[in-house]
Amino acid sequence: MKTTVVSKEYKALHQSIQDLQKEWKKELNPEAVQPKLDKAALQAGIPVVSLTSFQFDFPLYIKWIKELAKFLYPNSQSSSSSEQIVNSIMNEEMAKSWIEAAISCNHIYFHEFAEKNQIDEWFLPFVAEMAVRPYLQVLADKVQSKVDDWLPGSGCPVCGEPVRLSQLEGEGKKVVHCPRCLFHWNVNRLTCCHCGNKNHETIRFLTIEEDPASQIQVCEECHGYTKMIDTRQYLAKPESYMLDLTTLHLDFIAQENGYLAAVEKKDLNKN
Ligand SMILES: [Zn+2]
Ligand SMILES: [Zn+2]
Repeated sequence: MKTTVVSKEYKALHQSIQDLQKEWKKELNPEAVQPKLDKAALQAGIPVVSLTSFQFDFPLYIKWIKELAKFLYPNSQSSSSSEQIVNSIMNEEMAKSWIEAAISCNHIYFHEFAEKNQIDEWFLPFVAEMAVRPYLQVLADKVQSKVDDWLPGSGCPVCGEPVRLSQLEGEGKKVVHCPRCLFHWNVNRLTCCHCGNKNHETIRFLTIEEDPASQIQVCEECHGYTKMIDTRQYLAKPESYMLDLTTLHLDFIAQENGYLAAVEKKDLNKN
């Protein structure tokens, strides 16, 4: 079984984007993010982002999008059409729509926009999302010590991203990490993050011989999975965004075995 499905080059590219995001975050005024914490909303599975007021700096967002576009097409003699189009048509009103679509994961908006403007299908949702993350990460920093309630199945309590990554830390407690906003929270080690099932007879662990630090927790009640990485065995603890990326082989194994990430499960329910 291959434990390295992500190439060195791809990993390096994402590491550079992470570094870029860290710089962007420094350019943000933390006062632009004003969360309103509501215990009842959290208990009902409504993420903090839904009740947060943001003062988006559209020129700054556009600057980030352009930096990222330049970065993603570094070698083209004449820059790619996607980069050119973005540079020529991007305006504040568009930035506002992109931010809204990225925060609410509105794939239909991006699909239609890309088709209409002949932009690479992958490009738009990717750059729009990456440039909105500094706001989500500032939000997560602000509420990290204040969010105590969480509803299994509702995804990250801050940004709503579906749960798929956890780490074993300290004495062996399970800490769920959101690779999107970088919020993290404790969940009982045996509890399924997708349905709250705690029955040890229907919670199982898939182990990977070639990757002893990793397990996949699967639930026979809801068929959800969570990657569980014992990062105590790592020499240097990776950031959750990169850890999620470098453990992509575990997502493949889980999905090949019929287990799903929450987002796909919701999609299935719709059909
Ligand atoms: Zn999150
Ligand atoms: Zn479950």
